[in-house]
Amino acid sequence: MKALKIFVPIILLSLTMYCCSTVPITGRSQLSLISASEINALSFQQYDEFLKQNKLSTDAEKTNMVKRIGLNIKSAVETYFAQHNLSKELQGYAWEFNLVESPEVNAWCMPGGKVVVYTGILPVTQNETGLAVVMGHEIAHAIAQHGGERMSQGLLQQLGGVALSVALQNEPETTQNLFMTAYGLGSTIGVILPYSRTHESEADRLGLIFMAMAGYDPNAAVDFWTRMSQSKGSASPPEFLSTHPSDKTRIADLKKHMPEALKYYRN
Ligand SMILES: [Zn+2]
Repeated sequence: MKALKIFVPIILLSLTMYCCSTVPITGRSQLSLISASEINALSFQQYDEFLKQNKLSTDAEKTNMVKRIGLNIKSAVETYFAQHNLSKELQGYAWEFNLVESPEVNAWCMPGGKVVVYTGILPVTQNETGLAVVMGHEIAHAIAQHGGERMSQGLLQQLGGVALSVALQNEPETTQNLFMTAYGLGSTIGVILPYSRTHESEADRLGLIFMAMAGYDPNAAVDFWTRMSQSKGSASPPEFLSTHPSDKTRIADLKKHMPEALKYYRN
């Protein structure tokens, strides 16, 4: 009982100390129990591990396309953050864009700008603008720290809100699984956690703006998500749809945000 009395105030204190950060562009306040430096260190380690265990594509042309889109979007994000005096938030980023040889229809971005595109998604993205839709969306999830929010919720629910460093030391496996699930790689450990409607809508809105600033026509997003959701009923629905559920609401939402995104598109 005594322990509980001490424990509860500690949780409340740590919640008020860290608690919330604000999502750029949308201004939404979110739960944040982990620092950027802590999460980036874990992210970089997991990313290197992933690259060691998977095969990079040997297709130079497609690999270069992934890197070109990545650099264009990176530069758009940096411009946006500089214009809004937020450049500090990008400190510690170590952007990387890799194309991995895999039939899986998927792509993701880990904290600190670590992007992976699977060759399996290329038939659905069809061309450079289509892939910019996906990479813009994934980078937007990372920029808005949706994974960090999910990770914080997991730490709170499963480990009582301890600091990430403590969790890693005491419960390394649980913490790693929390990380994989929070950042959309849960399929490798058999736990898939779809992003919430709020996160999806936010990533769509930010993704449209970033791709438009990078010189890609944001209208392509409507076509891509329509193509993607058409494969929902197939025998093996894309991995991408498990983490990014798609329906009519998304398409309507994309159309709603299109006029805002088009203001950033100058071609
Ligand atoms: Zn998403």
